[in-house]
Amino acid sequence: MNLPALQSPKRKYTAAASAGALVVVVIVAVWLLSRTSAESTSRFVATDPADIPPVLVADPSAHGLVQYDGTVKPHMPFISAMLAAGIARPVADTIQKHLETLSFDFRMCRPGQTFTAQVDSAGALHTFSYVSDRLHSYWIYRDSTGTLQARTWEIPVESELLSIEGNVETSVYQTIMAMGETPQLVSDYVDVLGYDIDFIFDPRVGDRFRILVERRVLDGDIIGYGPILAAEYEGELTGRVIGYRFDAGEKDGPGYFAPDGENLQKTFMRSPLSILRVTSGYGMRTHPISGQRKMHTGIDYAAPTGTPVWAVGSGTVVFTGWKGGYGKTIEIKHSGAVKTRYGHLSKILVRKGQAVRQHQTIGAVGSTGYSTGPHLHFEYLVNGKFTQPRKVKNPSLKRLTEEQMPAFTGEMQRIDSVWTNTPRHIGRPRRNAIAGARSPASRADA
Ligand SMILES: [Zn+2]
Repeated sequence: MNLPALQSPKRKYTAAASAGALVVVVIVAVWLLSRTSAESTSRFVATDPADIPPVLVADPSAHGLVQYDGTVKPHMPFISAMLAAGIARPVADTIQKHLETLSFDFRMCRPGQTFTAQVDSAGALHTFSYVSDRLHSYWIYRDSTGTLQARTWEIPVESELLSIEGNVETSVYQTIMAMGETPQLVSDYVDVLGYDIDFIFDPRVGDRFRILVERRVLDGDIIGYGPILAAEYEGELTGRVIGYRFDAGEKDGPGYFAPDGENLQKTFMRSPLSILRVTSGYGMRTHPISGQRKMHTGIDYAAPTGTPVWAVGSGTVVFTGWKGGYGKTIEIKHSGAVKTRYGHLSKILVRKGQAVRQHQTIGAVGSTGYSTGPHLHFEYLVNGKFTQPRKVKNPSLKRLTEEQMPAFTGEMQRIDSVWTNTPRHIGRPRRNAIAGARSPASRADA
């Protein structure tokens, strides 16, 4: 086991102290951005760097201790898992009693979580640890007077504010992944700008992107990101799209706004499925049905069967069922005489007449109807006529009011000045990638 909680106290202290120093540096940076963002500050309530977590005794048998290691199994109460690991009933009761003082929620035990108990020769509990995830653990230990104490421990995480930027090579997904970032960042980024840009079809080689975000690292691994503070995309087809995170007092929390106060969240999302499913392993360069192009009136997204398909906008389901060459099909009516159609599905999860929300999963990719491989056929109909997605009006949901603009402008300027001074993580284009790359967009519009 290489869990930090089980390392020696000395090494632990050093790690905690250096992580603590880093946290201090980051707190300064984050403080600059924190006035309107309570969410990003709260995650910086780090464990006191001078605090040392309890540890298990390194060589238990040499100290007259017996060690029991256990793992939480599916559908097994925690007490049973302890007994199954060989822990005697009275010790298990002691553990349970102490964990209760920490408001430990036994229903939140997840299969795979591990625990260790060290018991002395008299059969009394010496030390107990429960590792909830890489960051969080629960401890029962003897204090200097020999009394059992219980506490939680949260490993301090290194966080850094970064501007992650690069030029598109084959796709935004591949470029960001090649930089060593994770799919979460791609998906967060697409969530911000995905109302203006179809990240599957719109990017062109040489387009640029920039993301201001705080990255969280543990033992050299990226374990997550804070909310994106600002995101920009500048492309041949898309033009420049930029959004800043701002809390306009909406109940679903902060949103993203363009410099003119326009909400980046719009009536329609550009893609009806996750680009993570389309670009990882499935090329978008070939139309799955050759010979179909001439008659084709939509966009085909090649994706594995079962990939969730969502409604690009809220509306009412007006058709579900088999529709000739489209196979299993869903049609949704939106405001403004706009309809969207989703074809070749393997599964339909909505009923005719049902109201659906934007981003609600309505079905799954399949290959029903006239189709030679799993893909989603997606199209817009305006007044019953097929319309290219870029020509469909896509109004903002709620723009900032005159009264909100001064606060937003101030926030935007503050983010910009922080952004300018933030370390950059720049994706360098690989020469052969550029030479061999074609645009990922082989849009199959009619
Ligand atoms: Zn199609």
